[in-house]
Amino acid sequence: MAEYFLSWSGGADSTATSLLALEHGEPLTAMVYCEVMFDQRTSGEVPEHAEFIHTVAIPWFEHHGIHVEVLRSQKTFCDYFYWPITKGPNIGKLHGFPLSRKGRCSIKRDCKLPPLRQFIRQHKGALWYLGIAYDEDNRMKSMDQNAVSLLEKYRVTQAEAREICKRNGLLSPIYKFAPRGGCFFCPNAKEKELRHLRDNHPDLWDRLLGMQSDQRVVRPNSFGFDLTLLDYENNFDFDDRQITWESLTREEWT
Ligand code: SF4
Repeated sequence: MAEYFLSWSGGADSTATSLLALEHGEPLTAMVYCEVMFDQRTSGEVPEHAEFIHTVAIPWFEHHGIHVEVLRSQKTFCDYFYWPITKGPNIGKLHGFPLSRKGRCSIKRDCKLPPLRQFIRQHKGALWYLGIAYDEDNRMKSMDQNAVSLLEKYRVTQAEAREICKRNGLLSPIYKFAPRGGCFFCPNAKEKELRHLRDNHPDLWDRLLGMQSDQRVVRPNSFGFDLTLLDYENNFDFDDRQITWESLTREEWT
């Protein structure tokens, strides 16, 4: 019997795909979620999204009869970061942040894809639902023959996918402060996302700052393309200490 899996991230498009499968009675063997870990105990997802996935979405789908298969690589982000380099001019140093000069991130290659590839090998011939919306022409063209988009089949756009999730109480809180899910240590994160991490999860922010300062790593100064995390920290700190005209006048009169 053919197997049907959904590649699920907890984001709106893949969550809406699962809801469409339920609504229309489409075959769905399981949802497959691959979780990158920061270390052995801490999810690499932005904490609000990790909490949504594990305490809201997975229980909801399991309750509605859809199994969620959670895959994790043995290798965590910290394993990658502190991995010793064994050849070349940097021999003996440590890898550091996972961003190449061309902007490619090695975490996907090293921590996300291996368990997914193994799962695919174990389920040869399965069909995969991908959360690609009706209005995402470019991504649609890149789908291979084993992949199907239910959002395309039922003509659901990205905006409509969010509405479907919202109606079912399954829209991740991440959309309140980021355009999409991802790792909280992502070197491609936007300033707003870094600010959110610093303000709401200072323990994780401090760990990243400590890693940024480690002089043993090859890329101690590369987080994103222009600024280091320490630069961001200084900018945020400066912003926090700005005295506004409003606060100044308020202090004078109270
Ligand atoms: S979210 Fe960022 S760090 Fe995580 S796999 Fe994607 S590019 Fe890499």
